[in-house]
Amino acid sequence: MNTWKKLKQIDWTQLQHLGIIGFLGLFWIPILKWFFLFYLIGFIQLFKGMKEAEKESNIKNLNNYYLTFFLSQLNPFVFFPATLQGLGQIVILLKNISGFPDRDNYQNKTDFILPFQGQWFVANGSSTKKNSHSWDILTQRYAYDFIIVDPNKKSFEQEGKSLSDYYCYEKEVLAPADGRVVTVSDRVKDYTGVGDLSLDWKTRDFRGNFVIIQHADKEFSFIAHFKSGSIRVQKGQQVRQGEVIGLCGNSGHSTEPHIHFHIQDNANLWIATGLPIRFKKVLVTLDGEESMVRMHDFIEKNEKVENLA
Ligand SMILES: [Zn+2]
Repeated sequence: MNTWKKLKQIDWTQLQHLGIIGFLGLFWIPILKWFFLFYLIGFIQLFKGMKEAEKESNIKNLNNYYLTFFLSQLNPFVFFPATLQGLGQIVILLKNISGFPDRDNYQNKTDFILPFQGQWFVANGSSTKKNSHSWDILTQRYAYDFIIVDPNKKSFEQEGKSLSDYYCYEKEVLAPADGRVVTVSDRVKDYTGVGDLSLDWKTRDFRGNFVIIQHADKEFSFIAHFKSGSIRVQKGQQVRQGEVIGLCGNSGHSTEPHIHFHIQDNANLWIATGLPIRFKKVLVTLDGEESMVRMHDFIEKNEKVENLA
């Protein structure tokens, strides 16, 4: 491939991640200060993205979300890992300089199932840029957020002010494929401030409680926001597809109980490239109407999805 084509493939907005160096540069070498401009550009883009999300989702008031997101930058337990994540983006960019894995060029080595039983709703996530969970966070480019909704598309009963109001809270989370557990982190309390779209800005880990499982060479799953103390597997343990590994919770940066699931090419979250996920056999229902069976295929935002044996 010629150089020009390679250059065109790079998403140059990614340069904002260099701003992290600039932020650190404020305290170090004077010339690095200029990278801080990238950091500002990153924040402006983030803000624009949120405003667009607000418009699209018909959610009137995301102010609590913005406020707690910015406050969380003052929390060293969030700021330093977020900085690592930002620096990791540069590593991921360099790793994929000749092109990123996408739905057309990447073949899964593993046959994945959805990490739950029964019908859930894809609140976020897609195999394409349009409805991506977070296209520019390269590890989570193909991530999904799953919740359970009722026929009115509501994810809770009562007022949604308590964790137990949420249909998916404490539901079992399953291993999406056979594999070996490489990381377990179960040290964060569930965030109880649900119902106002705020984030737990004082959390000790924005990932919440999470598990990383290796399924194949360069194929790992990352599953997060488990209920505190609910993870049933240990580091080094072999798991079988469909085995219960913990319970759905609301730990870390999560506005309501949900399962976050993505796959990545490395055990280390900060430097792993996110990979598209084809699921083995899924019953997909859109808008409560037509159902179709999809085999070895992707799922998309706003679909109701369920494993088929
Ligand atoms: Zn997520």
